[in-house]
Amino acid sequence: MTGGRPTLRFAPSPTGYLHLGHARSAVIGRQLAGDLGGRYLLRIEDVDPTRIRPEYVAAIHEDLAWLGFKWDEPVRRQSEHFDAYCDAAARLERLGLLYPCFATRTEIEAAADPTQRDPDGAVIYPGLWRGGSAADVRVRRATGEPFALRLDMAKALVHLGHPMLTFREWDGDEQIETMAAHPERWGDPVIVRKDSPTSYHLSVVVDDGLQGVTHVTRGRDLYAATDLHRLLQVLLGLPEPIYHHHPLITDTAGRKLSKSAHDTSLRMMRAAGVAPEEVIRRALNGTQ
Ligand code: GLU
Repeated sequence: MTGGRPTLRFAPSPTGYLHLGHARSAVIGRQLAGDLGGRYLLRIEDVDPTRIRPEYVAAIHEDLAWLGFKWDEPVRRQSEHFDAYCDAAARLERLGLLYPCFATRTEIEAAADPTQRDPDGAVIYPGLWRGGSAADVRVRRATGEPFALRLDMAKALVHLGHPMLTFREWDGDEQIETMAAHPERWGDPVIVRKDSPTSYHLSVVVDDGLQGVTHVTRGRDLYAATDLHRLLQVLLGLPEPIYHHHPLITDTAGRKLSKSAHDTSLRMMRAAGVAPEEVIRRALNGTQ
């Protein structure tokens, strides 16, 4: 129940220690939630079994508590809600929009056109299992071979039937601009991973819907992913949030910070004696 209140969330993935870039997202979200008189939630996005580590989950809580964060609700951990993502995937399957894909990364790389890339720079999936024969699928499944479920983008767009898919981008102040979404530039994305009952894209839209998130605030690095998120929201009948993608923190050489940028991890800063107020100031400034 959201009681109609604006609802914002900070949704880190425990695949590394939080750094200044995360603090920036967390602080901006908190500020905008305050401006809107809304709720502010923490969600742990721990659906990638190859990269998550329990110590990173503990560190998220510790580092954010050090910065003075308090959350409005019990924290949602995505790994405790796989049933919700399975239901959503089943719904897309019933619409005939998902297909199993047994291809390995090597097979995909070998068959793909290297000049065709998605917004993250990965090769576009060359459609190896799109329209795969039911018999082939049965044989592979019978041997227990792992498979992903991909969205058939062409079918999804036909199903959508909209002249244009859009999202609303908010500047965090008074302007909201309607932007065109271009999900087709992602090819046939993985909706259910081979090694997990979900994917980032599926669980993020399901949870934003279930938690009544009205304003999605996050870094510009996720701007292009909004294409897919809007598409999934429409296909799943989920409400449309407003988006605010804030500029990322860059280092002095203009490079974006990554989770491997240990020198700006919040715990390193704490160990070095930097005060939480100073971290928050730097996070809001967008400077390292
Ligand atoms: N879990 C994602 C990340 O840490 C952020 C998801 C989102 O804000 O939509 O990059």
